[in-house]
Amino acid sequence: MSNKTVFGKIIDGEIPCEELYRDEFCLAFRDIQPQAPVHILVIPIKPLESLKSIQEEDQELLGHLLMTASKIAQKEGLENWRTVINTGEKAGQTVFHLHIHIIGGRELKWPPG
Ligand code: 5GP
Repeated sequence: MSNKTVFGKIIDGEIPCEELYRDEFCLAFRDIQPQAPVHILVIPIKPLESLKSIQEEDQELLGHLLMTASKIAQKEGLENWRTVINTGEKAGQTVFHLHIHIIGGRELKWPPG
């Protein structure tokens, strides 16, 4: 039995996705259930479970994920967007492979629910 998450399967090409960007360290693709006109996920190739499980050695990778998210959001033509990282079930995390949501293309309220 595989203990891969759905994102692990996407990385390995076992589940299709609408891929927007990929390099050695990360992958970006459109969310299957978009919450806004633009809803993209940026994930590390390394199977980090969440921000709870990061180590000092992941610092450069985390910077790369944010740099990539910024470039993708701008490439999508967004001038305003929200980046979200849900950490833990009670904060809304449903897939336990670290991911950055990029959400935009409509006005976003604050605070979130
Ligand atoms: P979370 O709730 O963990 O912060 O975010 C998980 C996100 O992954 C959700 O927005 C959900 O719609 C998205 N998602 C779950 N399964 C799939 C899938 O198979 N393909 C894609 N593209 N997105 C998925």
